[in-house]
Amino acid sequence: MHPMVKPALRRGWRDLNTVQFGMTPAHAMTLGPMDLATGSFLDLLNGTRGLELLREEGRRMDLPDGHVDGLVRGLARAGLLDDARGGGPAADALRKKKEVLDRLRPDLASLSLTTSAPGDAIGQLAARRSQRVQVRGAGRVGAVLASLLAGAGVAEVDVLDGGRVEPWDVAPGGLPAESVGDRRDESARRAVRRAAPDRPRRRATAQTSPGAGDPGFSLVIIAPRDDVAVHAPDPAAAEPLMASGTPHLYAGVVEGTGVVGPLVLPGETSCAGCLQEGRTDRDPAWPRLVAQWRSGRQRQVRPCDLTLATTVAGLAAAHALAFLDGKVPSSAGSRWEVSVPGLRWHARSIRAHPECPCAAAERGKGEHLSEDGESHETMAVQRPSEQCREAEAERPAGTWRAHV
Ligand SMILES: [Zn+2]
Repeated sequence: MHPMVKPALRRGWRDLNTVQFGMTPAHAMTLGPMDLATGSFLDLLNGTRGLELLREEGRRMDLPDGHVDGLVRGLARAGLLDDARGGGPAADALRKKKEVLDRLRPDLASLSLTTSAPGDAIGQLAARRSQRVQVRGAGRVGAVLASLLAGAGVAEVDVLDGGRVEPWDVAPGGLPAESVGDRRDESARRAVRRAAPDRPRRRATAQTSPGAGDPGFSLVIIAPRDDVAVHAPDPAAAEPLMASGTPHLYAGVVEGTGVVGPLVLPGETSCAGCLQEGRTDRDPAWPRLVAQWRSGRQRQVRPCDLTLATTVAGLAAAHALAFLDGKVPSSAGSRWEVSVPGLRWHARSIRAHPECPCAAAERGKGEHLSEDGESHETMAVQRPSEQCREAEAERPAGTWRAHV
């Protein structure tokens, strides 16, 4: 191990014996009491030295025996330590691709804030290189979203859509003006390739597809160009995804409102069916309205503010990445919505509905999801205030304390 105090967190002394790591309440912690000698020793924890060499430096600085190991252990337990050589074989392979890693360095630094154990950040970044995601819809939202995921290091981003690129599909970061008239899906895939920091790898194994779903995808993102499909996602369209247990995320723009969510973990969190049932409970006219919207003749160009679409694409991509990185983002069980011109985001909770065949309501565990920790055991790190409280409980009293 080559310990490195996470460089993502700016350091500052709050007083003579307390160091603060980080600036923002979301990720900042304080550490103390710490003497000046130990404080200056922190500078040596920069990933260039192994433990043996660090102990030697400690002796040279007259630090007591065992002090260096205790410090390294304590920093690791507080989630403040990274390992410049950790993360496993996939991380090693990524380190060898310097130009790829250089493109992703800010993302790596950001991952170090949401991961705890040394080496986890680069391990997760490397894991993105084996993820497969499908984006359905290549309009102003979908094409940008797909490009963002590719740019963030997701290895394979497939895009599905029909028809040809219209002038109003063009968006910075998405479909370029040169693609007008080309096939939408092909143009979006080209945009994805352009955004990726690495050349796409050839898939060694053919995709196995038992049943009608897409079990080969870690996540499917439904980003329709059609505004009714955004506002009232059709549960029937998601049936194969539900049947194959494929996690999926909804995103899009309808009129002046941007929507991100829900992220559906089939059978565990509320789905499009739950959303439909809940709306019908609250408004008996809902099915009648949806039927009219769906059958109504579509005017040629639907409203879609360019900046709103880009915002939705960015937020949806962030939720998708959080999920791919092993967390459960706040779009599980809710829809984030924002409308022009006020642009205040708010979450609408979507309850798992007892009438919905998805059975998420039976489980009734939607709100316990973040505590389950089985498949997403790094989750507690997402909520640093709790993580800090937990970390504090493990620390020797008076030695470490959390500050957020
Ligand atoms: Zn449901």
